Amino acid sequence: MRVLPNLLVFPWESMTENNCNTYVISGDKNILIDPGHYHLLPQLERKMRRDGLFFDDIDLVLATHPHPDHIEGAAAWNDKDCLIAAHLDAVEFMERYEKFWEDTTRRTLPVINFDFLLREGKLKVGEHTLRVIGTPGHCPGSVCFFWEEGKVLFSGDVIFFQSFGRFDLPGGDPLELFQSIEKLVQIDAEVLAPGHGPAIQGRGSVKQNFYIVLELFQQMVAEEVKRNGGSVKL
Ligand SMILES: [Zn+2]
Repeated sequence: MRVLPNLLVFPWESMTENNCNTYVISGDKNILIDPGHYHLLPQLERKMRRDGLFFDDIDLVLATHPHPDHIEGAAAWNDKDCLIAAHLDAVEFMERYEKFWEDTTRRTLPVINFDFLLREGKLKVGEHTLRVIGTPGHCPGSVCFFWEEGKVLFSGDVIFFQSFGRFDLPGGDPLELFQSIEKLVQIDAEVLAPGHGPAIQGRGSVKQNFYIVLELFQQMVAEEVKRNGGSVKL
């Protein structure tokens, strides 16, 4: 579904099966962010087709982080005339935890042929400029993308509508996640496009959501500290 002239959103709405939202920035180059699970790609393909967009139209596939519900489907573009990229720590993470994810999902994960690896900084793709922001904490190799022309922040599993990502999975770290969210507050986004759940539109609403989430995070840590009698401070 087209929500901005150059932005298509394919929200994941099933309550019975987990998968991520997929986004496509369209233009002289089409960039797809987070293809989701490999076995659920037919649903994405159907939704994209309704907007006149085909897998073969995609020039670049990006993943916000290396969890299978975000990155796995990228393998569908291995042999297409399309580039695939993720952060360098993401690729290392996938190799290290392949067995963990195969045990967790009870499926064999497809091999993804990455064409290049992301680092923090600007990524120019045709007419589009993406700022790659390193945001560890949910998992190693987690990045957010700020699309400068559309002022859209693709936040993966770092921050959602009134909520934040898990940090109890392998490589997760609450302090890093908190710092990553604080880093994102500085971005002048008009739309927050998270990996799960609804998007947030409007500069004021995006900012307010950041403050609500940081507050929630601090409350959670304070309760945790009280429970453990420790003195963790974020
Ligand atoms: Zn995740």
